[in-house]
Formats: sequence, C-alpha cells, structure tokens
Amino acid sequence: MNNASVPVVQDTRRRGLEDLRISVTDRCNFRCVYCMPKEVFGSSFHFLPRQELLTFDEITRLARLFVALGVRKIRLTGGEPLVRRDLDVLVSQIAAIPELEDLAMTTNGSMLTVERAKALKDAGLKRITISLDALDDELFRSMNDVNFPVSRVLNAIDAARRAKLDPVKVNMVVKRGLNQDAILPMADRFRGQDVVVRFIEFMDVGTTNGWRLEDVVPGADIIKQIDHQWPLEAVAPTRPGDVATRYRYRDGQGEIGIITSVTHPFCHSCSRARLSPEGQLYTCLFGQSGFDLRALVRSEASEQDILDKIRGLWARRDDHYSEIRRSLTQGLPKIEMSHIGG
Ligand code: SAM
Ligand code: SF4
Ligand code: SF4
Repeated sequence: MNNASVPVVQDTRRRGLEDLRISVTDRCNFRCVYCMPKEVFGSSFHFLPRQELLTFDEITRLARLFVALGVRKIRLTGGEPLVRRDLDVLVSQIAAIPELEDLAMTTNGSMLTVERAKALKDAGLKRITISLDALDDELFRSMNDVNFPVSRVLNAIDAARRAKLDPVKVNMVVKRGLNQDAILPMADRFRGQDVVVRFIEFMDVGTTNGWRLEDVVPGADIIKQIDHQWPLEAVAPTRPGDVATRYRYRDGQGEIGIITSVTHPFCHSCSRARLSPEGQLYTCLFGQSGFDLRALVRSEASEQDILDKIRGLWARRDDHYSEIRRSLTQGLPKIEMSHIGG
C-alpha cells in the first residue's frame, strides 16, 4: 500500500498486489502422497537443471521490483526450500529491502537444525511454517513416503521456537481416509505451546495427486470436532488477504487456523503473486501457465520495463479459480504445488 492506503496496482477485481511467494526449487526430499506421488516424481522425473533456476541475485532483483509495486510480505517456499544451498544468503538479501515488512518460509522441517534456524533468523527471516501431517510415526512416514520420522520434524519445530522464528505455525493437510483421525492429537499436541496449527483442506493443485472432492474434509467439520473437545471462538483476521480463518481456545490455550480453499474460497481477497523457481510469474495457484520474467531479467530490459510488465500483468488479472472450480471441467493442465509452492 502507498501512503494513502491505496494499492499501487489493482487487478480487474480490485485486488492489490501485496504478497509474493517465491518457490526457490522444484526439488524436495519428501514424496508426500498428496503433493509429489512417487509414481510420478520417481527417479526418471526431470527436475529443473541448475542453470534454469533464478540465481539469488535475480530473485532479489525481482523481489525489489515487486516491493516497489506494493508487496510487503514475501514467503519462500518450494519444493523444499531448505534443499537449496546457502538459503540464508538469499534471506539476507531479501530482508535488506527497506519497505519489506514480513519475510517468512514454509518448509517440511527435515533439514532445519538448531544452527540453521538460528542462521536464518540472523539473516532476517521473521517467521516460519513447518508442515506436519500426523504425530503417529507410522502414519507420518507413510504420508511423506520417504520413511522420515516424526521426531525429527518435532525437533525442527523446537529449533524454530528456540531461534524465535515465532509464532511458529504448523501446516497439516487433512485428507479423508488418510489422516483425519490425526486432527485432535495435533490440536492437543500444540495447545498451550505458542504454536499455531493450521488445518488445510486437501486441494486440487496440479494434476498428479488424484484429488477427489470426496477426500476433502470440510473445514467446518474440523472446527466442529476441535470445538467439541476444546471450545473455540472466532478471531478477527489480522489482514484482509489472510488465507487462514482464525480461532482461539476459549480456555486461553492459544489459537488455530483453518484454510478452506475448497469449501469457502477466498479469491475475493487474494493479493498474492507467485514466482516459480525458473522465474515464471503466476497470478493464481491454479494457473495453467505463467509469464516468463526470467527472460526479461536476463535480457537488456530496464527496471522500468520489468515494472511495467508486472504492473500490466497484474492489472489484467481476473483469477478466481477456487470460486468457480465446481463449474470447471477437471483435467485441465495446472502447475504442480511442488513447483510453485503452497
Ligand atoms: N516443502 C515445503 C513444505 O512442505 O512445507 C514447502 C512447499 S509445500 C508445496 C507448501 C505447503 O503446501 C505445505 O504445507 C503442504 O502441506 C501444502 N500442500 C501440498 N500439497 C497440497 C494439497 N494438495 N492440498 C493442500 N495443501 C497442500
Ligand atoms: Fe515436498 Fe512439501 Fe510437497 Fe511434501 S508438501 S512433497 S514436503 S513440497
Ligand atoms: Fe488466489 Fe487463485 Fe487461490 Fe483464488 S484460486 S485464492 S485467486 S490463488
């Protein structure tokens, strides 16, 4: 927002450009069954070669331009962002952009040691979200599908708390028939711990995860279950563009969030752009194609040329996929979540 609180650029639905998600890699050391099923992302899958990835300097240059257009919040994601070496260097470069207010990361936590969490914090990372879909070790190992133990993700959550990357958030994707019985244990584990668990409806991102509407546990059912055990009350959103609906425990034991992109879409306030590892700009998580910003960055284009291009793309944006998904036919090509990030 500028001084008069008017977005610097608005799309056709009067939504500003306020958030940027940067996916720094399409690679991941997990094969979560709802995101990178092994049958598709096996040994013959072609990930991007290194020279295709935006360099840290290219990412930072683009981040600066997005900030000039009104972005105040950047989140690093992937794939698994921590598989990219020296990520704290990128964090420090982005954190140095003066007008940026918030710099966060979403990670599976598998590579987040105490030292790395501290290095990221020292580099300027403000907040972290760690994904964890179950506390039962056997179930978690089968969901990440690489036999990764739950204890090491719990250690990562502790490491993040010790590094004061707080409030630490935990993302749990809920899929019917898979981990809906893990909802109450997850809520229980982090009540009173200053960790905000966010329950996420299983989404139809990409084309490889075998999504079916029947597998979605509606957010309202999740809230009902938790509220029955530990009464909840709604909390006002911090910002209009927030994706999670917030609730707090009436007994003062903290807060949870619920992300209902399937049953209660929030396209009307979606102010988020997404940059893929190879520099494609997507204006919707469900985009079928992006715009090649890398080609511009690697050309003779000036800062002004790139700014004008992004502004023009955003001004023409009309995306509202989640609001119309039911009327759309399935089977259209869509970008994968592991490529563009959550
Ligand atoms: N690898 C990192 C991680 O897992 O946190 C960052 C990238 S991951 C794509 C970002 C978030 O998207 C994770 O919290 C993940 O659980 C979520 N996610 C992936 N596939 C999803 C799906 N089909 N529906 C809902 N959320 C999904
Ligand atoms: Fe990897 Fe994250 Fe996708 Fe799991 S959800 S496969 S950790 S990118
Ligand atoms: Fe934003 Fe697209 Fe998701 Fe709607 S479907 S909230 S426009 S990313």
